[in-house]
Amino acid sequence: MPVESLPEFTKAARQRWESIPAEIRQRLLANVWCGCCGHETTITNFGGSIKGSDLLLVGKCAECHGDVARVIEGA
Ligand SMILES: [Zn+2]
Repeated sequence: MPVESLPEFTKAARQRWESIPAEIRQRLLANVWCGCCGHETTITNFGGSIKGSDLLLVGKCAECHGDVARVIEGA
């Protein structure tokens, strides 16, 4: 993954994200729906925050660089 700007995570969101096994994180990042591309894509340059009990990742589509987001439901 290219290093662009530093992704912004809240402290709680980073802790939640880092508690997820790496291979699952990879899978979560690689199947984010992009409404602009109309198919699943990879999220890049993302940050995270906690919404209720869910982890919300917000970043850019690897293909069109449009805004994409993914909710990871709280365990
Ligand atoms: Zn896209």
